[in-house]
Amino acid sequence: METKSNELKNRIAALGTMHQKQKVIAPLFKKKLGIVVKVPDDFDTDKFGTFTMDKKRTGSQKETAIIKAKAAMESLDLDIGIASEGSFGPHPSVPFGIANVELVVFIDKKLDLEIYGGYIEIVNFAHNTIAYTIDEVLIFAQKIDFPKHGIVMRRSDKDYGDMVKGIVSKDELIETATRLLKTNKSVWLETDFRAHVNQSRMRNIELATIDLIENIKRLCPSCHSSGFHKISPKPGLPCEQCGRPTDIPLYDVYECDKCSFKKDIIFPNQKESAYAGYCDYCNP
Ligand SMILES: [Zn+2]
Ligand SMILES: [Zn+2]
Repeated sequence: METKSNELKNRIAALGTMHQKQKVIAPLFKKKLGIVVKVPDDFDTDKFGTFTMDKKRTGSQKETAIIKAKAAMESLDLDIGIASEGSFGPHPSVPFGIANVELVVFIDKKLDLEIYGGYIEIVNFAHNTIAYTIDEVLIFAQKIDFPKHGIVMRRSDKDYGDMVKGIVSKDELIETATRLLKTNKSVWLETDFRAHVNQSRMRNIELATIDLIENIKRLCPSCHSSGFHKISPKPGLPCEQCGRPTDIPLYDVYECDKCSFKKDIIFPNQKESAYAGYCDYCNP
């Protein structure tokens, strides 16, 4: 089925979030696609898993995003659903790096579309620690760039009693730590990764949404459906000095999920040769 721009314009989408992701997602959908984003009242995404692990995520990142988008669609009885899901784990290509991977899904029941956008960032701040004193609490806060990133505090790693999430003021941080340290010799501190109290994640969700919208707008050259998207690149861009193939992409490969049409785009970075520093021969 051919997706024409007016098939999306002025439609209403349900966004499955309880952490104010509409702040970054809604303006982009309105401006770039003419889609109005609505959030169901009292939408509870914690039941699909939390970063603090008091509720574990059962599905994969992708599955969880789809479940949330579908739950939002059902709740508002709309045929477009959007949801995002983030994860933190080893970076796929940077040794010892921790990556924040943000995934945003767009489901359109009417046009039978399921399109993704993503963004990946290296996270270079500490994310948890034990503190025995207020000073140690404040050192951790400084390390994680508080209050740009909120803090979760509780009695200990696995003890979820007395857990306080979303601490974003220094007064509340000190007051909560003082209270918990009265009855415990230490407190457990974690970076709060929920989007509304973590500016880095909110920005990464925005960048993943930009990627998603580009994918929605890119039509398949064969069946003209939305969602012609990049899959794995093919390495082999020749070295600028010796002409041997490097690991830098020579092609980006795009694919349509609807009709399986594939297209190679040569020189994806608009350069016809690679810097010799990337060459195993010139720079072993
Ligand atoms: Zn196609
Ligand atoms: Zn070379």
